[in-house]
Amino acid sequence: MVAQELLNADSSITYDAIIIGAGVIGPAVATGLARKGKNVLIIEKDWATPDRIVGELMQPGGVRALRSLGMVQSINNIDAYPVTGYTVMYDGEQVDIPYPYKADLAPVEKLKDIVKEGNDKVLEDSTIHIKDFEDSERERGVAFVHGKFLNNLRDICAKEPNVTRVQGTCVEVLKSKNNEVIGTKVDIDGHGKVDFHGHLTFVCDGIFSRFRRELNPKHVPTVGSSFVGMSLWDAKNPAPMHGHVIVGPNHMPILVYQISPEETRILCAYNSPKLPADIKSWMIKDVQPFIPKSLRPSFDNALSEGKFRSMPNSYLPSRQNDVIGLCVIGDALNMRHPLTGGGMTVGLNDVVVLLQKIGDLDFSDRATVLDELLDLHYDKKNYDSVINVLSVALYSLFAADNKNLKALQKGCFKYFQKGGDCVDVPVKFLSGVLPQPLLLTRVFFATALYAVYLNIEERGFLGLPMALLEGIMILITATKVFAPFLYRELCS
Ligand SMILES: Cc1cc2nc3c(=O)[nH]c(=O)nc-3n(C[C@H](O)[C@H](O)[C@H](O)COP(=O)(O)OP(=O)(O)OC[C@H]3O[C@@H](n4cnc5c(N)ncnc54)[C@H](O)[C@@H]3O)c2cc1C
Repeated sequence: MVAQELLNADSSITYDAIIIGAGVIGPAVATGLARKGKNVLIIEKDWATPDRIVGELMQPGGVRALRSLGMVQSINNIDAYPVTGYTVMYDGEQVDIPYPYKADLAPVEKLKDIVKEGNDKVLEDSTIHIKDFEDSERERGVAFVHGKFLNNLRDICAKEPNVTRVQGTCVEVLKSKNNEVIGTKVDIDGHGKVDFHGHLTFVCDGIFSRFRRELNPKHVPTVGSSFVGMSLWDAKNPAPMHGHVIVGPNHMPILVYQISPEETRILCAYNSPKLPADIKSWMIKDVQPFIPKSLRPSFDNALSEGKFRSMPNSYLPSRQNDVIGLCVIGDALNMRHPLTGGGMTVGLNDVVVLLQKIGDLDFSDRATVLDELLDLHYDKKNYDSVINVLSVALYSLFAADNKNLKALQKGCFKYFQKGGDCVDVPVKFLSGVLPQPLLLTRVFFATALYAVYLNIEERGFLGLPMALLEGIMILITATKVFAPFLYRELCS
């Protein structure tokens, strides 16, 4: 039964903002705009708790964005599990990569009218401790059951007096005669199709977005691989409070992170959008042998239960919002490989920049709003491109299927093993706290050169001519997996 309050929005008024989708990004946009005094309508096709295997580990950059948005308490009271860094496991060896020191980063920005009454600080609960998040010297990430986190975001949004919520499926973006967006048509159970009008319509309908094409018919993602996920119960994680990335020359990357005191998520990459016909047999042959010993009992239990869930891994570079009355944001606008868990971080940071740019404008002045939205594309580029390029380039290395990529994979791991700046800088990219694409380029090619050096060392003096030739091939491969994505991100 849908609550009556979700079926009664006023369709006779013009809202300042209409938001399509209440996933991670929709409620953040709605809450921020409502706190800025805007009259907001948010439409979600299903307000019930979603059960998805996406958006379960938030990098420190995402937590910082939640603070800027005065929504960080959305990680409270859901048995969320703090994350202090990553552990990369390669062919039986491992390296721990702690998150960056707070002192090395700029202070978190507090958005005017939006951050108030301590809503940028976590509360104490059974798993989130104030001393760890507020007082520790390093940044923290957090992992959680996605649906519980979403419920919290939605609850924060629902408490804003300027927000009206509707349950219904948006079936059309409404346009005026001169092709400006003026609202949306919503299919509401028992009410039929209802038109809602707004000065600005936000498309936040996520990975399978129906309306991203309103920006441009060519704005469609490419899908190159999939993740198959399982829940591991009472797993003994090799490095507690860390995200684990298990890589090796003979298998696809495997991600493992604890999302509650009892549940650990495992995501196993499959290098095609089309899944194997027999997932269990594939798991037994290509995944199980590479699972660390301590995880095997919980992994084997999950395998015999056979509850597999899968998601496509999509890539979609951002695009300028150049349609009057429309703002596409979140996964509808921009997607990257989920390997590095950066989607929510990018989306929430985009919301921070968005609110800075348009939060104080009068939305009925559509031309001025459009000008700011055009700028938004450039203002968020450095931040987003680092996370996006890192995700696709690392995936190419970690899913290595040829000699050169395997050399790069090994070089990357050995580079991390050197410690010092060789982990301190890369982890800032991963965390979403170092928005410098050119520095990312330098670091990526430093790892590639290190891979070349390791290969020369392995070949020895007599193998030098061959090693030099191979070195050239390794560098060409590195350029191929990095440069086109950097170009698309920076020049789109
Ligand atoms: C396998 C996988 C794992 C991931 N893991 C992580 C991770 O660990 N960390 C991370 O930061 N990111 C991760 N991501 C990415 C992350 O999930 C997304 O970046 C994030 O969910 C995007 O939020 P969004 O609000 O744009 O979309 P969504 O969260 O997908 O929300 C879209 C909302 O719109 C609603 N909707 C859709 N169509 C309509 C319609 N027509 N009418 C009304 N409502 C509609 C949907 O019901 C949904 O509630 C992962 C992605 C994948 C694929």
